[in-house]
Amino acid sequence: MRVSQLRKNFIAALRLYPLFIAALLLLGFLLGDFSERSDPILAKDTYYAILKIVLGVVPISAMVAFLLIGNASDRAFLRNNENQENFDFEDAFTLPDEKMHGYKLARIVGREPIFMGLTGDTYRSDDSSHCGIYPDHVPPVKGCQCGFHAFKDLSEAIFERSIYRTAFLFDVNLYGLGFVYRRGYRAETQVINHMIAPKKCMLCKTLPARKFVTKYEFNDSQPGIWSWQIRCSVCSSFFKPADTLSLDQMAQRLKIKII
Ligand SMILES: [Zn+2]
Ligand SMILES: [Zn+2]
Repeated sequence: MRVSQLRKNFIAALRLYPLFIAALLLLGFLLGDFSERSDPILAKDTYYAILKIVLGVVPISAMVAFLLIGNASDRAFLRNNENQENFDFEDAFTLPDEKMHGYKLARIVGREPIFMGLTGDTYRSDDSSHCGIYPDHVPPVKGCQCGFHAFKDLSEAIFERSIYRTAFLFDVNLYGLGFVYRRGYRAETQVINHMIAPKKCMLCKTLPARKFVTKYEFNDSQPGIWSWQIRCSVCSSFFKPADTLSLDQMAQRLKIKII
């Protein structure tokens, strides 16, 4: 199994842990292990032993597994970078001729909304990439991570979005010089086709999403930012009109479609 797949399955399993604890507590309650009864259906000692294992051993094992998986992903990342050195990227015409259509995550920030990548770089709907580390790079450069990144597979992007809750999902095309990886692309220029907008409010996660709202986010190390989220009518009702945009208005400002 690939490390990325392992990491994905592991995080999915961890999300079930609180439910599992709740079910175990409910079971203990139903079996009489929390009552004064001296003869519960499941012996109290056995139940408490199971509880100790689940509450103690499982989190410690999970932490160890996280470290191991993190290490393995670092090694996979380094191997991937080493492999890049073997490619002949000097001649752009030898690169795979593949239409680079994909999906990516980005935040929407600023009073005048623009896109912000997960690494903190900002860009517009049709833009060329700049290297944040080496100003003389014309991205993408082998051995560096500069350039616009996109997943090939929508399901991978949807999964990543379940981790980065403040990010939105976009359908993009990449152009220019580009590297093709197993999971996606890294390229020079990017055109954002549309936002695949969340159907539910990003706060209550229950009611239908109705409008964009912005609020100032403080940051310890850098100046704060105005961050945009999509909310339902109830969760957006406390915002001043100046701090809200309808879906159509946001689509116009960002120069993309929102579907
Ligand atoms: Zn670079
Ligand atoms: Zn809401």
